Amino acid sequence: MIYCVEDERNIRELLVYTLETTGFSAKGLADSRELSAELKKELPDLILLDIMLPGEDGFGILKKLKSNPSTRDIPVIMVTAKEAEFDKVRGLEGGADDYITKPFGMMEFVARVKAVLRRSQKQSEEREVRCGPLSIHSGKHEVKLNGEKVDLTRKEFELLQYLVENKGLVMTRNQILCHVWGYDFDGETRTVDVHVRTLRHKLKEAGNRIETVRGVGYRIEE
Ligand code: CA
Repeated sequence: MIYCVEDERNIRELLVYTLETTGFSAKGLADSRELSAELKKELPDLILLDIMLPGEDGFGILKKLKSNPSTRDIPVIMVTAKEAEFDKVRGLEGGADDYITKPFGMMEFVARVKAVLRRSQKQSEEREVRCGPLSIHSGKHEVKLNGEKVDLTRKEFELLQYLVENKGLVMTRNQILCHVWGYDFDGETRTVDVHVRTLRHKLKEAGNRIETVRGVGYRIEE
């Protein structure tokens, strides 16, 4: 899924149309509010981000995306109407993966999109963390136990990933809730216990690596 954040309707529709005819799924969004709403539902593989937008501009949006752990790794291509070098440099320094200057040809546009997706795919494949017999692949959302794929729900995966990223440290139930379920999650810490239980079960012999620290939370062994 590719999100195209662009306030000019004609351009937005053209971008979405071009991506869809190339075989991608794409969604056009007019401003930062629409983007925020969509990000809560689904994280895209790539964001095309116009700079001059009503309300919050592309630079502000980019900064927010890059400072949030859940959106940090989504590649961003900045779309700028000004050819000034200034915009390009600012965009790249802020963590954009590429930029494209309007007006641009659709062939070039698609080539850029494909190149950025290829790079990010490669990076995410390299993002594999090991923990004993477990290997956790954050890009593919995949866990393997002795090379065999383990079928986890999204929350179970995120829980395991969080514990492994903090290997050796005790994470409190509240920390886990905030990180995995989000700050605005309106639930109980018991949710964490329930997920740890199913996760341990699914991880079989590797499950007892998740240690309960009484009255505090959970820790995964080094
Ligand atoms: Ca614009």
